[in-house]
Amino acid sequence: MGKRFNNILETIGGTPVVRLNKIAPKDVNIFVKIESFNPMASVKDRLALGIISDAEKSGALKPGQTVIEATSGNTGIGLAMVCAQKGYPLVVTMAESFSIERRKMMRFLGAKVVLTPAALKGSGMLAKATELAAKHGWFLCRQFENESNADAHSRTTAPEILDDFAGERLDYWVTGFGTGGTLKGVSRVLKKERPETKIIVCEPDNVQILGSGIPQKRHADGTPADSHPLFRPHLMQGWSPDFIPKLTEDTVAAELIDEIVPVSGSEAIRLSKALASEEGIFVGVSAGATLAGAMEVAKRAEKGANILCMLPDTGERYLSTPLFEGIPEDMTAEEMEISKSTPGFRFDAPPPAAPAPVKADEAPAAAPAEAVQFLEEAIHDADNPVVLFALEWCEFCWSVRKMMAKYEIPYRAFDLDSVEYQEGNKGGNIRAAIYEKTGLKTIPQIYIGGKHIGGATELFDACKDGSMQKALQENSVSYNSEVNTDPYTFLPGWLHSR
Ligand code: PMP
Repeated sequence: MGKRFNNILETIGGTPVVRLNKIAPKDVNIFVKIESFNPMASVKDRLALGIISDAEKSGALKPGQTVIEATSGNTGIGLAMVCAQKGYPLVVTMAESFSIERRKMMRFLGAKVVLTPAALKGSGMLAKATELAAKHGWFLCRQFENESNADAHSRTTAPEILDDFAGERLDYWVTGFGTGGTLKGVSRVLKKERPETKIIVCEPDNVQILGSGIPQKRHADGTPADSHPLFRPHLMQGWSPDFIPKLTEDTVAAELIDEIVPVSGSEAIRLSKALASEEGIFVGVSAGATLAGAMEVAKRAEKGANILCMLPDTGERYLSTPLFEGIPEDMTAEEMEISKSTPGFRFDAPPPAAPAPVKADEAPAAAPAEAVQFLEEAIHDADNPVVLFALEWCEFCWSVRKMMAKYEIPYRAFDLDSVEYQEGNKGGNIRAAIYEKTGLKTIPQIYIGGKHIGGATELFDACKDGSMQKALQENSVSYNSEVNTDPYTFLPGWLHSR
């Protein structure tokens, strides 16, 4: 924090450890390691950098070679950042059921996202990644078996913890497991350097696949041969997949785990909310879940014990999940009361008076002849019968643009406030010409074949009653006649919600 770096990848790791001051029991210290401080806001940035750097060193990944992985979230987002910075194309396979936000984030970072049918679940996206990697010679990350995942944690997360507790007691270290990279990588270092530290692993109370001791069937390469018989859907995204990953099983086999603690989904949500509202620490569901495990441990820990709990990612990734259920969009009764405590700017207050009509001496300056001529030529241009007079970033203009795109209507737009039209007040003069011609001062204004249609809502009405389509046909303008989306849905959300 607060240093200078040569590139974004250097900022991965070095996450802060923070003491909880309100929600922890008084007689023990609970510390949290906040992985949302990583550049893409999750612990998986460490694995992404680790896997790619190791593969570069070993030669498994060649310059410019495409990287591929099956992932529903944080791994894909971390890989997308690392591949963007290092210049590798990335393809992520993902079941269509995962949230749209995640798809868009990866695409925003330049990755390609190949969707797989939801019915084929996690194994479908994994099989697709394997198939694509084999066919195209792409580098498959294999986060669940790749030792580079655990190594990244032994190299970064573990020494950070040792440093933060140097010369002090560290009684418990608490984590969950997704791949088990954090678990394996950190626990093996702690067991060696701090043998007194108890390693606590949490898992969902309705999916105790690790606690059950029922072994996982797997192929020779470590990949799972089928779903674990005890797997059920659970709340903690990023935790406990439908099989025991190889990296997690290694930790069990090496007897590094002191205790497995089951935690409930409702405790996970309660503690994630408490972290935010009482400690100001904004994290995801698996973070609340790990803290639930740490609170369990705290109940029976010795007085003065230090407990360190991993918080894997940010709460912002869960806006559309049960974590935010009950968090309203509209004003609550209490917020309404605050609004009503003063007279102005309220939804139930009388609307502001209509603006006074423009007086003669305030009328816009007469349009210069060039502007009038520009307007006439623009609206009678045989090559561009559909003309939009717009402002570059106006929401109503964008609604019109979205409608035109949806209906595939070719049009010419004049952005009257853009840099191009600011010179010599060209845009203002054209507005004055439009005002003289139509009596209207508002923008957007739309013309088809020289005929004035009106503003956004007039265009939308013309679309609904078919007169827009008629005008397009009369002027031989092509459009997609199959579309019948209500154009009003293109208006900004705050407008059609009232
Ligand atoms: N929580 C979240 C939100 C995650 O995305 C992950 C990684 N899948 C984990 C916890 C677990 O981390 P690991 O893969 O290192 O076990």
